[in-house]
Amino acid sequence: QEDDFKRVISHAKEYGYVFQSSEIYDGLSAIYDYGQNGVELKKNIRDYWWKAMVQLNDNIVGLDAAIFMHPLTWKASGHIDAFNDPLIDNKDSKKRYRADVLVEDYVAKIDAKIEKEVNKAAKRFGDAFDKEQFLQTNQRVVDYQEQGKTILSRLGKSLQNEDLADVKALIEELDIACPMSGSKNWTEVKQFNLMFGTKLGANAETAMDLFLRPETAQGIFVNFLNVQKSGRMKLPFGIAQTGKAFRNEIVARQFIFRMREFEQMEMQFFIQPGTQKEWYEVWKEKRMKWHLSLGLGQENYRFHDHEKLAHYADAASDIEFRFPFGFKELEGIHSRTDFDLSSHEKFSGKKLQYFDHEVNKNYVPYVLETSIGLDRMFLAVFSNSLKEEELENNTTRTVLKLPAVLAPVKAAILPLLKKDGLPEIAHQIIDDLKWDFNVIYDEKDAVGRRYRRQDANGTPFCITVDHQSLEDQTVTIRHRDSMEQERVAISALNGIIHDAVDM
Ligand code: ATP
Repeated sequence: QEDDFKRVISHAKEYGYVFQSSEIYDGLSAIYDYGQNGVELKKNIRDYWWKAMVQLNDNIVGLDAAIFMHPLTWKASGHIDAFNDPLIDNKDSKKRYRADVLVEDYVAKIDAKIEKEVNKAAKRFGDAFDKEQFLQTNQRVVDYQEQGKTILSRLGKSLQNEDLADVKALIEELDIACPMSGSKNWTEVKQFNLMFGTKLGANAETAMDLFLRPETAQGIFVNFLNVQKSGRMKLPFGIAQTGKAFRNEIVARQFIFRMREFEQMEMQFFIQPGTQKEWYEVWKEKRMKWHLSLGLGQENYRFHDHEKLAHYADAASDIEFRFPFGFKELEGIHSRTDFDLSSHEKFSGKKLQYFDHEVNKNYVPYVLETSIGLDRMFLAVFSNSLKEEELENNTTRTVLKLPAVLAPVKAAILPLLKKDGLPEIAHQIIDDLKWDFNVIYDEKDAVGRRYRRQDANGTPFCITVDHQSLEDQTVTIRHRDSMEQERVAISALNGIIHDAVDM
């Protein structure tokens, strides 16, 4: 698993998808830049989402709100008071941990211990070794499991209840059951606010403290009436937005899964109070369908319904995806009641109500939210698509089987030779196709190597121009996934690519 994930990260760099930010200065942690291919993949995912949400729903419109918002926004949203992570420092190692993530480290540690015991026993008993039986009867293994599990479940509860003293005590207990690099010297657990602050204005005395938005949703809430009135929108209707969000994440690892600067794609759907249960189900289903439409495999998705709810929600579920490091949250679907609009009414003193002609009443609408991280979706698509394939002739190939609709480059045009007029025909084909698709020209190396390069790049089609093309205006088109080749007329190329990559 770890090796798979390392391969994903190095492939993303090697093929111009994702670079460490400011790499020549040794980088900034949990901040990344998207390269020539990454920027296209990211844009295609964003467009695929936008099309499904805005273009195909006549009651959802778009918005592009600013990153900076009035500071009271974050008071009203609850972020100033409640957008915290519990932190604990280790005095020996001088390392800082997010308490809930530390729990994951312990789980991994305990798993590793058990595996070590299993491997030892397997060696000793050889063919006679029965792993299931061993796991159930070996006292040491049973103890690890029992001890670890009980403490971990108590720890999970204390974290949920924000019982910080308990959290510390349980971490110390875990340390005895399963030492973390021999250190027992922990500080108190503290809450740490995740918002980045900055200042507006040049004058030190009058400058206003601002925050970089930690989510895009609030820009939608504060514009609810602007959009509703100017667009004459009737409930139910939605507002969709994509854009950057910033969080001062403490544990920044797992590549672009958890970043400090990232992009969200959010949609807030405004509804009549009392209808939230139905809409919650509708949007759970619609969003899952959107994911499945990309063909990454149904078995890689699952819902995780929340038991403990955030202060703003009356129901919440995550769509989890099987990342290289296990199932993790990819998208959240939240029934937010009237929490946000009511709170903004209170803090701004402005009414944020809707006049419903049908019932002849003013009310604050309820909100159903779908919220997905663009970068996380990028990682889901990219990691799921990267494959090592055994070929018939006992060689392997690396192929990035991106859904064609999302692939950065749709076709590579390859002249078989760099002479005899073949490059000219290739360039002509590019000039025809480039108005509709992102296509590239490649004449370097033998054609087999060029195919491999495009496989690894994720390009769904290779179009090869040869001597026959001069005579009958046909080319071969090679399909990335099946590696099958067919002879087609140059004039048919546009239609073939269209059929494969259309949203
Ligand atoms: P997590 O529990 O993983 O920190 P969250 O529950 O705080 O996520 P939300 O606040 O619901 O996440 O944000 C909605 C979506 O935004 C998430 O489902 C995720 O896809 C994305 N997201 C949140 N934080 C980050 C981050 N630091 N880096 C990349 N994407 C993120």
